Amino acid sequence: MAKLSNATIVSLPTLEPSCDISPRDHTRATGRPTSYRHLDFKLKVMIMELTLNNGVTMPALGLGVFQSPPEQTTAAVEAALAAGYRHIDTAAAYDNEREVGDGIRRSGLDRSDVFIETKVWVSDYGYEQTLHAWEKATAKLGVDYLDMLILHQPAPDRFEKTTAAYKALETLLGDGRVRAIGVSNFMPHHLEQLLARTDIVPTVNQIELHPYFTQPPVQAANARNGILTQAWSPIGGITFYPGFGEHRKKNVMEDPAIAAIAQAHAKSPAQVMLRWHLQQGRSAIPKSTNPARIVENFDVFDFELSADELASIDALDLGVRNGPDPDVARLANFARVISEP
Ligand code: NDP
Repeated sequence: MAKLSNATIVSLPTLEPSCDISPRDHTRATGRPTSYRHLDFKLKVMIMELTLNNGVTMPALGLGVFQSPPEQTTAAVEAALAAGYRHIDTAAAYDNEREVGDGIRRSGLDRSDVFIETKVWVSDYGYEQTLHAWEKATAKLGVDYLDMLILHQPAPDRFEKTTAAYKALETLLGDGRVRAIGVSNFMPHHLEQLLARTDIVPTVNQIELHPYFTQPPVQAANARNGILTQAWSPIGGITFYPGFGEHRKKNVMEDPAIAAIAQAHAKSPAQVMLRWHLQQGRSAIPKSTNPARIVENFDVFDFELSADELASIDALDLGVRNGPDPDVARLANFARVISEP
């Protein structure tokens, strides 16, 4: 067992062939041909866990599924779990909670071995509505509790409803229907307002965070309050995937400084960015539906970035947001209805 920042690296219990990892799934996950004979070896995977402010532990690295089409999500989740991931980040608004649940069941792992995180969408804010959002999410996922339930947006145009939604999360936590609660896209002023009106400090704040946008004031506010920073678009997907505006000038995946560090460690730019998050104590939830990239994004426990390398990645921050501004109400988007199960 090794210590890294506030995290612990543990060996997961050995996965036996009886864990339902078929040769096809193993090949899909690793990109390497295999057979049952090869599965006789003990598949050892390392996992790094972070301890949240309520004592619950969460695997630092998880699979994100934003924009994962439902028909590809089950396979992506299965591939990730076969590769060693034990944390999946979804959301009511991604419309693929059902397929995430299917992937977890098809992995053959116990429910309790997988950390399931999902998010309440804005149209479900309000106390009763958010309690019902838990019903919808758990029914779609096919589980009877969630590991982490967070508010997807601060929605400052209706902060009374946001606060009521958070109070519902507090109730769900008290009832044992969720193990941890948190927020997403909360800026320091949103956190301040929430903390003044509610009782339980969020465990995480999931925010846009990659080398071109590191949000130091938000990270500092999180740290001051004992809130773990969780990076969305941790490998900078928002800087290059389609649909997010022509203002984006630079693709972080093509950054020369990151490429040089990657070359020095014989790793990929994505692996360097993920290692940077982990060494700085953050949770990261890279998304992929590609089996080889799913494996690549988890293969980050066998190298270490130096203090200089970490600092040179920090220095790439452009201070420009690529995703939506959490202070701007997107009325049509916020009104999107989350279906009943
Ligand atoms: P990521 O930084 O995870 O990047 C995803 C993109 O990178 C996809 O286009 C993916 O394509 C590609 N990719 C994945 N791995 C590699 C690799 N090794 N090399 C090259 N390209 C790669 O961006 P996301 O915005 O998806 O963020 C991750 C997760 O964060 C989301 O899936 C979601 O769970 C969460 N999120 C939360 C938000 C919030 O408001 N709370 C907002 C946005 C995201 P491919 O699939 O083809 O591999």
